[in-house]
Amino acid sequence: MSLDDYNEKRHFGHTPEPAGSAGRSGEGPAGGLRFVVQKHDASQLHYDFRLEWDGVLLSWAVPKGPSLDPKDKRLAVEVEDHPVDYADFEGVIPEDEYGGGTVMVWDRGTYEPRGDMAEMRADGSIKVDMRGEKLRGGFALVRMKRREGEKRDNWLLIKERDDEARPRDSYDVLAEEPGSAKTGRSMEEIAAEA
Ligand code: MN
Repeated sequence: MSLDDYNEKRHFGHTPEPAGSAGRSGEGPAGGLRFVVQKHDASQLHYDFRLEWDGVLLSWAVPKGPSLDPKDKRLAVEVEDHPVDYADFEGVIPEDEYGGGTVMVWDRGTYEPRGDMAEMRADGSIKVDMRGEKLRGGFALVRMKRREGEKRDNWLLIKERDDEARPRDSYDVLAEEPGSAKTGRSMEEIAAEA
């Protein structure tokens, strides 16, 4: 896996984001693969869903954000791998930089793949158990057929039916728990630091 795409898009020294090198040095929990969901108020507000694998963070941009309701199938657009250290990044990317806007660590924790990760990725069906503060239990990422002209793979992020599932009518996790899992701050408070 390569972080070339990640590095090429960014001007380090100008953006506060970490420069990309594979491997981990962040403050992550010992043992277990990390995950992070970052709320990103760029030109369009979205949530970046990232799973540590093979020294990088596999990454998807989820326009509507994750849901605990198994009826919700949330579009997740595959984007470039990010460095593992990115999981700790919360702050403001300058407006003239790639992805300019406020970034919040909305949820974080560890996850466990339910099977061979390489095989699941190749098959386009990644099943994981999430152990975050907000996202818990089984989730699936299911790859959709690529339409002609599309440069990136589109996936669907779907909560599995288990004890951690919640109907969105009674509990919308995005609305109920909008703050940072890292600092407790709101998007406005993070933006104000810059
Ligand atoms: Mn993003």
